Amino acid sequence: MEIYKETSLLKQRLQKLRSQSKSIGFVPTMGALHQGHISLVERAAKENDITVVSIFVNPTQFNNKEDLEKYPRDPDADFALLEKNSCDIVFAPTVDEMYPTPDTRVFSLGSVAEVMEGKYRPGHFNGVCQVVSRLFNIVEPNRAYFGQKDYQQIAVIKAMVRKYMPTFKGEIVSCPIKRESDGLALSSRNVHLSPEQRQSALLISKTLFEAKKMADNKATQKQITDFIKRSIASDANLCLEYVEIADKDTLQPIANEYPKNAVICITVYDGKTRLIDNILL
Ligand code: AMP
Repeated sequence: MEIYKETSLLKQRLQKLRSQSKSIGFVPTMGALHQGHISLVERAAKENDITVVSIFVNPTQFNNKEDLEKYPRDPDADFALLEKNSCDIVFAPTVDEMYPTPDTRVFSLGSVAEVMEGKYRPGHFNGVCQVVSRLFNIVEPNRAYFGQKDYQQIAVIKAMVRKYMPTFKGEIVSCPIKRESDGLALSSRNVHLSPEQRQSALLISKTLFEAKKMADNKATQKQITDFIKRSIASDANLCLEYVEIADKDTLQPIANEYPKNAVICITVYDGKTRLIDNILL
């Protein structure tokens, strides 16, 4: 496995591989890697000749300074895990390497980026677009892999590519959420949970699975959201930030009383840790 910290060296290496007709699969991450990330790496390795993983905690997508400072970082453990798991090339730049000058670009993507995470984390998706567009320009992948754990992020990145990167040829591949055996969605942020909070966190996925059953049994949107609010409120460690039932493509509220082709997206504070999850209906 090769590790690059410099953009120019990585670009040279990838140019060589492309000239040998190698296809490139790309997995952008912020590190603190777990089996959710590895599931993307494995998929990329299966579908491409070369798998590139980036590890970069992107400051411009954090709207909260404390969250950025507290974000878990363990590059040596990440490199060791990637080495064991089908990764060929790691790109781990510094902030100065990625942003030699401040990125002042504003991505105007309309409603898909304005609801849910866009509303509660102002500036977050603009930062995501800044870093992902840079990474796409550096790596020029044939395919880029993203997890449905960050469901809205995939829709935003697709919209960004359509509008701002019309010559980008790579395919955006979305991959299913990887969960612990008890249902909790894997997340780098789970390391912040105390054993008691970890137990409480379980209620989030449990509530979503129950909500899906309700939808399958023809419950209305209101019945489902009322149930979710009640369920999350029943645990003293949890505080619901939002729950939305949205169109699975546009992420906008759906008109139909009985949700289908929809996604339920939920964000919950478990103590101070902000956890997101979702389920497709
Ligand atoms: P992050 O390091 O949190 O920015 O995540 C990097 C990529 O891994 C994103 O595309 C995430 O959606 C994806 N990812 C994170 N957690 C999971 C998970 N539990 N299952 C599947 N993909 C995930």
